[in-house]
Amino acid sequence: MLHIAFPSFCPICGKLGEVVCPECLRSLACHAVNFCLVCGVDAPCARHPDGLSCRSVAKYGGVNRDVVHAMKYRHQHKIAFMMGQIMARATPRPDVDFLVPVPLHKGSGREYNQAELIARGASRLWGIPIKDCLRWRLRVQSQARASDPGQRFIPEGAMRGVGELEGARILLVDDVCTTGNTLLAARAALEAVGADVGGAMTWSKSSFKVADFGW
Ligand SMILES: [Zn+2]
Ligand SMILES: [Zn+2]
Repeated sequence: MLHIAFPSFCPICGKLGEVVCPECLRSLACHAVNFCLVCGVDAPCARHPDGLSCRSVAKYGGVNRDVVHAMKYRHQHKIAFMMGQIMARATPRPDVDFLVPVPLHKGSGREYNQAELIARGASRLWGIPIKDCLRWRLRVQSQARASDPGQRFIPEGAMRGVGELEGARILLVDDVCTTGNTLLAARAALEAVGADVGGAMTWSKSSFKVADFGW
């Protein structure tokens, strides 16, 4: 009955009852990259030796965009968890103390944070705990929804780190990296309270600012 009321099938193989089946989700993770969050080129970046690098496994767009959307807005918690596990398998285990998910935007009406669910999947595989220690201080437009470059600017101090973080080594986790600005704001917030952010990890990398800004 549930399927009749809410028809759902894997968009890749057509299997009924799945937003995307585990095998097909794994097949989307075929685009592993490690890039500079400041300019988008492959890491390590010669121009930004102090910049932050980010690993992503799936190219944004097409079916993957639909899958990310379902994971984010349709309570597909299992998909988020599986994404985290797939990312952790594709990434060298980082030498950090905590995985820190990017928080939901201030005033977001969302009921769950997909970045936290993704972090749970990676946490299970790596045995690295999650720390929910980032908060937005300002109301900022989501990078994915901000269509023009002006809207994508994130003011300094837009996010803050909470709790005892002095000396904590951290890997940031999010679902999609659009401009890199959110992850860089997260790093600034954590470093301001003494943490050491070693890198970031996202399921997808979307268009990125190289194309948007011609940097
Ligand atoms: Zn499938
Ligand atoms: Zn760079």
